[in-house]
Amino acid sequence: AAVLDVDGVGKSYQTGTLNVDALRGIDLTIGQGEYVAIMGPSGSGKSTLMHILGCLDTPTAGTYRLVGVDVGDLSEVELAEVRNSLIGFVFQQFNLLAHLTALRNVELPLAYAGTSRDERRRRALDALAGVGLADRVDHRPRELSGGQQQRVAIARALVTDPALILADEPTGNLDSRSTGDVLALFDELHRGGRTIVLITHEEDVAARAERVIRIHDGELRTGVPLAVGR
Ligand code: ADP
Ligand code: ADP
Repeated sequence: AAVLDVDGVGKSYQTGTLNVDALRGIDLTIGQGEYVAIMGPSGSGKSTLMHILGCLDTPTAGTYRLVGVDVGDLSEVELAEVRNSLIGFVFQQFNLLAHLTALRNVELPLAYAGTSRDERRRRALDALAGVGLADRVDHRPRELSGGQQQRVAIARALVTDPALILADEPTGNLDSRSTGDVLALFDELHRGGRTIVLITHEEDVAARAERVIRIHDGELRTGVPLAVGR
């Protein structure tokens, strides 16, 4: 079954009398358990597409369905609910709250979802153990390396058991060793059946995915991954 189904999606920005077509005629279907990288140069429309896939913005043409739900029909409140329950976000800047421990950061999406305190704690500890940080749960972000912070962020993305992991340049702030750790973790998640969309401008990062989609001037070109980095 398709986790996401993008059909003829376009996005135009109107600034004064100038109209920019950031995305045009995007068709993209991603099935359960697929690991897909989206690549493209600066200005190609990656951020715009990521915002649409992440339900942070809606298309100006076409339809986007996430687990069968037509996102274009939803209110702002419903979109926020979809983001919190169906999507696990991983960002370049980690976006952890500095004053909270790793455990509290990972519990946050469950707090929004109204999960009980004991259940939150149990699931957050589980998620942190799953990313190899069982011994760091009481550390605050500044007490962790960049790679460890990103693993906390990945645990936070996983804790709600989302339909889709959406990672935007997740290794953009990491040294090569931590990049390797984070990519190995994505490989493991993929083997475990997770659906992952990774946005990157780095060829060797994209090559880890099973499918690479290239975006140029707001249009997609699909292709096979390069056999590097394996
Ligand atoms: P990328 O992430 O690949 O660098 P973007 O999605 O940010 O590309 O941008 C794609 C195109 O859309 C660019 O031409 C950019 O200038 C334009 N664009 C993006 N956001 C806006 C906006 N809010 N208003 C007007 N134009 C925008
Ligand atoms: P709520 O309105 O319920 O507080 P938000 O819209 O703030 O929900 O956030 C819902 C989800 O979307 C969160 O997981 C958050 O990390 C993500 N999110 C919110 N704003 C952005 C953004 N500008 N870029 C990327 N992700 C975002």
